[in-house]
Amino acid sequence: MKAKSSSAPPRSFFIQTFGCQMNVNDSERVSGLLRSRGLEAADSADQADFVFLNTCAVREKATAKFRHALGRLRRLQADRPDLRIGVGGCVPQLEGEALVARAKHVDVLVGTHTLHRIPALMEEAAATGKTAVDLDRKADAFAIPGEIAAHANPVRAYVTVMEGCNHVCSFCVVPRTRGPEVNRPPEDVVREVEAAVARGLGEVMLLGQTVNAYGHGGTDFAGLLERVNGVAGLERLRFTTSHPEHVNDRMATALRELPRVCPYLHLPFQSGSDRVLASMRRGYTRQGYLDTVALLRDQVPDLALSTDVIVGYPGETEAEFEETLSVLEGVGFDSLFAFSYSPRPGTTALRLADDVPEAEKRRRLHVVNAHQQQWQRRRHQARVGCAEEVLVESVDGGGRVSGRTRHFRIVHLDGTPGLGGRTVRVEITGAGPNALQGRLLQAIH
Ligand code: SAM
Repeated sequence: MKAKSSSAPPRSFFIQTFGCQMNVNDSERVSGLLRSRGLEAADSADQADFVFLNTCAVREKATAKFRHALGRLRRLQADRPDLRIGVGGCVPQLEGEALVARAKHVDVLVGTHTLHRIPALMEEAAATGKTAVDLDRKADAFAIPGEIAAHANPVRAYVTVMEGCNHVCSFCVVPRTRGPEVNRPPEDVVREVEAAVARGLGEVMLLGQTVNAYGHGGTDFAGLLERVNGVAGLERLRFTTSHPEHVNDRMATALRELPRVCPYLHLPFQSGSDRVLASMRRGYTRQGYLDTVALLRDQVPDLALSTDVIVGYPGETEAEFEETLSVLEGVGFDSLFAFSYSPRPGTTALRLADDVPEAEKRRRLHVVNAHQQQWQRRRHQARVGCAEEVLVESVDGGGRVSGRTRHFRIVHLDGTPGLGGRTVRVEITGAGPNALQGRLLQAIH
C-alpha cells in the first residue's frame, strides 16, 4: 500500500515526452484531455501536481532517459508527497507488470492504447493508494478525440491516422508496443484536420508508423491525401513515416499533383547491404530501394528526401557499412537520422550477437553524420540567391524568426513577432549544413 498524504485532486499537470512525433501527438491529446477535466498546464515538473512521462522504447537510450526522469521525480516526490506521477506509452506496454513492481511511487500506469483512462486511473489511485494500471492493448487507441488535442507547435498539427505496425523488422520493438495496424476512418481524419485549421494551424502532418500503408474501406493512402488536400484553409500537408514497400504510382502522383501536399518524403532505408536488409526483414533490396527513389524523382522532380539509417547492426562488416555510405552518396538525402543499433526486448534480432563493438558503432555513426553534414551544406549553398516560401513557426523577442520551406528546410531571418504563423517570401542569403539564412521579401498571407 502506498502512503499518500493527501487525496486532494491535482490542479495542474506537466507532460514530458520522449521519442517520435506519434508520442508528441499522444501527449498533445493527453494534454487536451487533462485540460478538458479542468487541470491547468504547468511550465515544469516542479510546478505541477501531476507529472506524466510519455515514454519511448525504440532504443535503449530513450528508455534510459525515461528512467533518469523517473528517478528525478521520485526525489521530487520525497520532498512533495502530494506529487502524483503517471507513466505511459511504449515502455509500460513493453515491460508491463515488471515496471509496476519496480516503480511503486508511480500512481498511474497506462500503455499506448489506454491514455484516455488517465483521469479515471488518477481517481482510482487516489482512492486506493495503489498504482492504478491499464495496459490493455486492445482498447481504442483513438478514444481521446483529436479535436481536443493541445497542439504544441503554433503552426503544425500532428494527426495520427493509424496506430501500430504490421511489419516484422527484426530490430524494431514497435509491433510489440503499439500492436498491429489499426487505421482510422478517413472521415475522422478529415474532421480532425478541419478542427486544426479552424484553430488557425496552417500545416498538418499525418502520422503513422508506416503511414503510406494506410487503407480504410475503399480509401488508400493516396485517397486519404486527396481527401485531406480538399480541406479549405489548409496550407500545407505532410506525412511520416513512409515505408518503401508501400510507395506506388498513386502516391507519387498525389505528391506531384495535390497542391497542398509538400514535396518532402521521409523514406528510411536502414542499410545499403542486401545481407543486412534481408536479416532486418525490411522487405526490399538495395536496388529495390534505389528503384523506388528513381520512380519518385521521375514523378516528383523537386522532391526532398530524408531517411533513417542504422549502423552496427549484428554482423555488419566494414564492407557492408560502406554499402550504406554508397547509398547515401548515390541518393543525396536532404536530411538523415542515423542510429546506432540497439538490441531491444522481444525482437528477432535479439537472437543475433550484438557483435559490432560500441566504439566501432560510434565511429560509423560519426562517419555517416560527417558525410551527411558535408552534403547538406553543399545542397543548402545551392539555394543561396533563390526565393523560398517560409511558414514562420517560431519568433524570438530579439527580432529573429524562423520557419520551414515547403521542402522542410529550416530558414532563419530577421522579422517581428507579428510574422508568427504567416507565410512569407524570403530570399536565401546564406547556408549552413542544418539551416538556411534569409531576407524577408514579402508576407504572402
Ligand atoms: N516505422 C518506421 C519504419 O519502419 O521505417 C520507423 C519507426 S522508428 C520509431 C524510427 C527509426 O528508429 C527507424 O527507422 C530506425 O532507423 C530506428 N530504430 C528502430 N529500432 C532501432 C533499434 N533497435 N536500434 C537502432 N535504431 C532503431
